[in-house]
Amino acid sequence: MTSTEQVHIDQPAVEELATTLRGEVIRPGDLGYEQYRRVWNGSIHRHPGLIVRCAGVADVRSAVRFARKHGLLVAVRGGGHSFPGYSVCDGGMVIDLSLMKGIRVDPDGRTARVQAGVVLGDLDRETQEFGLAVTSGIVTHTGVAGLTLGGGIGWMMRKYGLTIDALLSVDVVTADGGFVRAAENHNADLFWGIRGGGGNFGIVTEFEFRLHPLGPNVFAGPVFWPMEDAPKVLEFYRDWIADCPDELMTIVVQRRVLALPMIPPSLVGKHVIAVTACHVGSVEDGERVVRPLKSFGRPLLDLCKPKPYLAHQSMFDPSFPHGWWYYFRACDVAGLSDGVIDVMAEHGSRIVSPVTSVALWQMGGAVARVGEDETAFNGRNTGFTFNINGNSTTGEGFEVERQWARSYWSALAPHHTGVYVNFLMDEGGERVRQAYGSAKYDRLKALKRAYDPDNFFRLNQNIPPT
Ligand code: FAD
Repeated sequence: MTSTEQVHIDQPAVEELATTLRGEVIRPGDLGYEQYRRVWNGSIHRHPGLIVRCAGVADVRSAVRFARKHGLLVAVRGGGHSFPGYSVCDGGMVIDLSLMKGIRVDPDGRTARVQAGVVLGDLDRETQEFGLAVTSGIVTHTGVAGLTLGGGIGWMMRKYGLTIDALLSVDVVTADGGFVRAAENHNADLFWGIRGGGGNFGIVTEFEFRLHPLGPNVFAGPVFWPMEDAPKVLEFYRDWIADCPDELMTIVVQRRVLALPMIPPSLVGKHVIAVTACHVGSVEDGERVVRPLKSFGRPLLDLCKPKPYLAHQSMFDPSFPHGWWYYFRACDVAGLSDGVIDVMAEHGSRIVSPVTSVALWQMGGAVARVGEDETAFNGRNTGFTFNINGNSTTGEGFEVERQWARSYWSALAPHHTGVYVNFLMDEGGERVRQAYGSAKYDRLKALKRAYDPDNFFRLNQNIPPT
């Protein structure tokens, strides 16, 4: 069955399901249907036959059993931010976890229990109350669930590792409606696969994370130069980060400047290259570490300064609102060779849409100190991860942006070393294999055979059991 196949759903049975739930069932025509069928990427429009908005584990298990019994295609929704829109389907059932928002922080034990509908901003808010944080992503409305299951990269990773490296245990509803816990010493095979293998093995209803001390202030923010300066900025940047401390993480951004309150009107629309830094150690150390960047060349604008970590975490939110049309191409590269810099300079200057952008993520540090085989995540030794996104606010002009993103990505092809699975679009099975590498992919396939032999969970970066 494909995501576009329509199925007949037995309505009396749906009504009976609805009476058992703590959450709610939404069908086409119901109030809220239009709202809940939508996902973050506005270019995705699908019409599920049934949306089950789960309030807890019991609802998730009921939904899984119901879908199995009635042969329904199932999409699982955490934060709804899957680039290709895997968390919604046509005709089948969406198991929507977004009502499951519980977070419990243990400040003494430095752990947090987090339900599957939580988004990053909620989690940061609760943990920062105690001067703690989970190493995670960089946009507040991204779902903790999908981000964690694919790996989880962000500002804290070079010091504290990926989000999966902070994961202590998970509660999982399996494809047959069963319920298991997985941790390093309990269902260890499943725990290995969950840490990078996406939603292939079950529905995680709750995550337990280790927390790290952070903030409340960090030294962070972007420094901008004109796009014409890209080659010399990138050459300087390459040398500067070569021996930087793990506390520093940077993202190079190429885009046209958005109209935002802190941006001088004269810069709006200009093509720029920016290095956004975040130093997760002391503010004083951060100021010292970032000083060379701030004084390089003649920046157009410098917004890198002490600020609350929570403010920094929402910095990219205006660039990625719900409902715009988004298309992504992604790849890893080993380093910033002259060839990579040439591609960046050339294609960066060709950006058309004011809402299109490129993010080049600096990897390394603690991410690379975990063994490649310790988790299902692949690419721990990569130098950088590219996220090339061709965006438009509506469908108008979207095709031009898609073409631009493809041509940028293709020009980088000689330098590709891999790809972060959470940054894939719907690119086919071979790309998923490439993302994991053959050996790891085969191990994941065996795990899939053990936990989901019918490929019940297949709307994801799918690892088919056979
Ligand atoms: P969803 O669309 O709800 O889910 C994504 C996938 O996971 C789907 O296949 C879904 O079925 C599955 N899934 C969701 N919840 C569960 C669950 N509880 N159990 C089992 N399967 C589940 N990634 C980073 O690493 N770092 C970043 O900083 C970052 N920033 C981003 C910013 C934006 C604006 C966006 C759109 C994405 C970003 N990403 C980032 C990528 C992100 O990690 C993935 O898009 C991720 O899949 C989003 O998770 P979600 O829960 O919001 O999405």
